Amino acid sequence: SLKAGIVGLPNVGKSTLFNAVVENGKAQAANFPFCTIEPNVGIVAVPDQRLTVLSHLSKSQRSVPASIEFVDIAGLVKGASQGEGLGNKFLSHIREVDSILQVVRCFEDNDIVHVNGKIDPRSDIEVINLELIFSDLEQEALKHLCLLTMKPLIYVANVAESDLAEPRNNPHVREVMTLASDLQSELVAISAQVESELSELPPEERSEFLGSLGVSESGLGNLIRATYRLLGLRTYFTSGEKETKAWTIQAGMTAPQAAGVIHSDFERGFIRAETVSYDDFVAAGSLAAARERGVLRSEGKDYIVQEGDVMLFRFNV
Ligand code: GDP
Repeated sequence: SLKAGIVGLPNVGKSTLFNAVVENGKAQAANFPFCTIEPNVGIVAVPDQRLTVLSHLSKSQRSVPASIEFVDIAGLVKGASQGEGLGNKFLSHIREVDSILQVVRCFEDNDIVHVNGKIDPRSDIEVINLELIFSDLEQEALKHLCLLTMKPLIYVANVAESDLAEPRNNPHVREVMTLASDLQSELVAISAQVESELSELPPEERSEFLGSLGVSESGLGNLIRATYRLLGLRTYFTSGEKETKAWTIQAGMTAPQAAGVIHSDFERGFIRAETVSYDDFVAAGSLAAARERGVLRSEGKDYIVQEGDVMLFRFNV
């Protein structure tokens, strides 16, 4: 699955965020086969309301969300590219990820030491980005075409819970926002502490807690949406009595390529794809009703799959 690596200076909240995201992910999809492969790697379901709706309409026995793998990459300190800290171990982890989430400390707390003595997002980001650049130079990564500095990067501003409703009121966040937009990147404001508290609450108390902070959902959804946007990813669905399932594809993929995400045989033997948009499916109420209404289209091999398409592939074996 898609891999996102969490980096940042020590004590900015990476582990707190990682643990909370994995716990919240578990809570959101009870029967998803989660695993924590290693202490720093966790697979999380991509939250998607549409999956629940489709699954209900199709009377599916189960629903299977798309998933995203988070990797807590410790050891990125000043000098990591020269082997300081966890140096090389860090580098091997980070080369495997599809996107980088850079956590930047924007919360004040005198009890939690900042490695450079003060909260200074601009300088923190410079340290991290320089290490990524140095790592690229040392690795002769040009040869391997996997430059770290070419990986999509999202800045995650870790804010105090009092800033969660209006993160822009925090000058540190505004600074990160400016930097992020200068670098054609995205910013997501999150409170690692809130995510952590949330993961300890029973599910029925979560929305009230979020409401009391002036937000409607946990930070996980925002993080994942930003990742999908930045990576140009789209979701399509398959939906029947056996299961409803969300599939992640690259924007611009054709119907056979999208089918290939399920199984390479589907791509090779592709004949056509019965396709209906999510909205049309929901308005009709079922695949059969969609067919009667004429909103179920038969698409060929040149069809570009659209966000939210519900698809049924016909193929030769
Ligand atoms: P890491 O070194 O980047 O992985 O940082 P940790 O997640 O271990 O967090 C370092 C310390 O900061 C811990 O004591 C956390 O409880 C605390 N911390 C993390 N996020 C927040 C936050 O949003 N607000 C506050 N006040 N403390 C936080």
